[in-house]
Amino acid sequence: MWGEFRKNLAFRLTFLHSVLFGIAFVLVFSVIYLWVGYVLLKNTDVDLLDDTKDFEEANAGGGMAGLVAYIDAEIEDNGPANMFLRAMRTDGNILYVSDNTQWGDIPPLQAPSDPRVPAFRSFAIPERPGLSARSITFYVGDILMELAVPIEWEAGFMAELRHAFSIGVAFTLILAVSIGWFMANRSLSGMKEIEKVARSIAGSTDLGKRVPLKGSGDELDSLAATFNLMLGRIESSVRELSDMMDNIAHDLKTPLARIRVMAETGIEGRDVEDARGSLVQIMDEVDRFHAILNAILDISEARTGLLQLVTAKVDVRDLLDDAEKLFADAAKAQAIHFHVSPPVDPMPIEVDRGRIMQALLNILDNAFKFTPAGGAVFLRAWVGEGLAHICVSDTGVGIPKGEISKIFERFYRSDRSRSGAGRGIGLSLARAFVEAHGGSITVESEVGRGSTFCIRLPIEYATG
Ligand code: ADP
Repeated sequence: MWGEFRKNLAFRLTFLHSVLFGIAFVLVFSVIYLWVGYVLLKNTDVDLLDDTKDFEEANAGGGMAGLVAYIDAEIEDNGPANMFLRAMRTDGNILYVSDNTQWGDIPPLQAPSDPRVPAFRSFAIPERPGLSARSITFYVGDILMELAVPIEWEAGFMAELRHAFSIGVAFTLILAVSIGWFMANRSLSGMKEIEKVARSIAGSTDLGKRVPLKGSGDELDSLAATFNLMLGRIESSVRELSDMMDNIAHDLKTPLARIRVMAETGIEGRDVEDARGSLVQIMDEVDRFHAILNAILDISEARTGLLQLVTAKVDVRDLLDDAEKLFADAAKAQAIHFHVSPPVDPMPIEVDRGRIMQALLNILDNAFKFTPAGGAVFLRAWVGEGLAHICVSDTGVGIPKGEISKIFERFYRSDRSRSGAGRGIGLSLARAFVEAHGGSITVESEVGRGSTFCIRLPIEYATG
């Protein structure tokens, strides 16, 4: 129980706050206490010093006899308990000792080190335990005298001060603990709110909960905002993952069913040639399957930064040349004008040729897929703003505004193309490959007028 309590942050903060408060209070009190004690002692010393003048005057006026008479009168006036006096000649003979029944065996008389400067000292009064005295030792002529007074009032005052301090420290501690506990809980309330949401998410499947922001702009508010942001990311990742699983299941179901039908046909048919034909079809279908699975793996690796890139210096003009050759037949067959405008000068970039070519071919493939006969596809490349730009424009069907943000998602296919041959994976693979190179893909499109996809890659290696 105590161990649990000690782990509690609010408790630890309160404890620290109270200890610091207590130390500060003790320090301040000690300074005041010492200072007051010093001032009181100084006052006593000044009074004692004043008294020595009267002794000198009595000695000057009446000689030895006058001094003794004055001493007797003084002792009588103040009472032997409140004043003690002794006098000694230079030869060591004691000249006078006042009534010491209430003083007892006090320390022996000591001459000041400088005869002209009176010396002060404090000592305990043996006959009155707990009480101290202050004395002044001085010369009157050649007689050494010591005058002592009990410092009763001062000691009482100091005791009062200590008493007041003990009450003060108790109050201060109660106040420090209460304020500390209140402040600690108040500042940690934001944290508790975050913990509450995290706990409720951990115990359910609902990722939609968010920590309410206070709008104070403090560290806890920004922690809550970051926490909410993180929850948003996790929620969309989980949704994306679940959509992807749905799509994979959906997309693989049809070809699997087809493979099954082909296999059945192969088994049931009597003709060996027909069976061979079915097997060839099954092989094609399996290859397509394989290609899709590889693409999914590549996208995942690229997204998690695990994709191994084998980079080399590549001239973009060669990429465009290869692409032109690859799509020449398709262009002719679909009656689409394919215009390729390579840069005049060599345009070297350092990339994984296979991956960048794959990205470009996926984009070109779409351009041809979504452009009707009689349309045109343009492929251009240039260097600008420190980047290599490779752009594919078409005069095809275009993409509705609401869909533009989705087309790079895995397995996204517009309804228009769902029935077609596309798998909804070409663009997300293209983007994953380009981003793995530190580049980006952008798209501009207008329904009915066409689309332009641009790959942009850093060229810092190229110029070296
Ligand atoms: P798919 O295999 O279906 O082409 P992609 O990831 O390559 O998958 O493309 C996703 C979707 O983006 C396509 O289904 C299509 O709706 C849209 N799209 C891509 N390129 C174009 C384009 N040039 N013109 C019109 N729509 C396009």
